[in-house]
Amino acid sequence: MKVTGVTTAKGTIQAPVVVDAAGAWTRQVAEVSGLCVPLVPTRQQLIVTHPVEGAHADLPMIRIMDAAVYMRPCEGGFLWGVYEEPPRFFDMQSLGATFDVMDMPLDIEILRSAAAAVREQLPILETAKVREFRGGIPTMTADGHHILGPAPGAEGFYFASGCNVAGLSISPAVGEALAAWIVDGKPPVDLTPISAMRFKGETWNEHELRRNAAWQYRHFYGAA
Ligand SMILES: Cc1cc2nc3c(=O)[nH]c(=O)nc-3n(C[C@H](O)[C@H](O)[C@H](O)COP(=O)(O)OP(=O)(O)OC[C@H]3O[C@@H](n4cnc5c(N)ncnc54)[C@H](O)[C@@H]3O)c2cc1C
Repeated sequence: MKVTGVTTAKGTIQAPVVVDAAGAWTRQVAEVSGLCVPLVPTRQQLIVTHPVEGAHADLPMIRIMDAAVYMRPCEGGFLWGVYEEPPRFFDMQSLGATFDVMDMPLDIEILRSAAAAVREQLPILETAKVREFRGGIPTMTADGHHILGPAPGAEGFYFASGCNVAGLSISPAVGEALAAWIVDGKPPVDLTPISAMRFKGETWNEHELRRNAAWQYRHFYGAA
């Protein structure tokens, strides 16, 4: 199979290379071409508090590993979140074509429980006033690694997905590596652990994928 272009609602674009970087919709974009990719769209939520006395930008980021809670200074207050257990996974197909990330159901009770769980370490999480509560749908994989590079069985089809809630921090490197991979036919360094080719010839089932992805999500900071 070889890529010839992309068909969009506004017409067809001829192209010998296509990169599927559709985030939560990566699977749907791939499946249109008959390709399967093992990742799970997963809810991630956070709170930004109103300014708190004593909070300043020099404070460190804090991770309470066994509770999977993190907190960092943000605009005079704190930004914090939790890798919730069990994670809320989404089947984007079932949500319909008009679904937007902004429509994702949020659940502040999850964060309230997380704040209670780390009361002894971070009492501020229960007392600081909430300025903003938001979330999105990053993608988890069974081994906790990104999915990057050429798709097995489809010449010219590349993935840049499976961010495992860490896509922002490495996006410049991902972009550079993928560009080199496309132009030179190989990555600039050995990217075997995150290569989409690691799934070549492999089969997986949704239950197994979700179970492993859930473990990776909850243990984002390591197995405490
Ligand atoms: C609350 C929260 C906190 C986070 N914190 C961090 C953090 O501290 N550090 C960090 O590194 N990462 C963090 N992340 C993860 C980070 O946001 C993601 O890793 C990153 O956004 C993933 O990038 P992406 O390009 O794969 O997907 P996205 O950013 O979701 O982009 C995919 C894009 O593809 C578009 N798209 C989908 N389908 C189609 C289509 N058919 N045609 C055209 N376009 C399409 C979508 O509209 C979207 O714009 C956080 C995420 C959340 C939700």
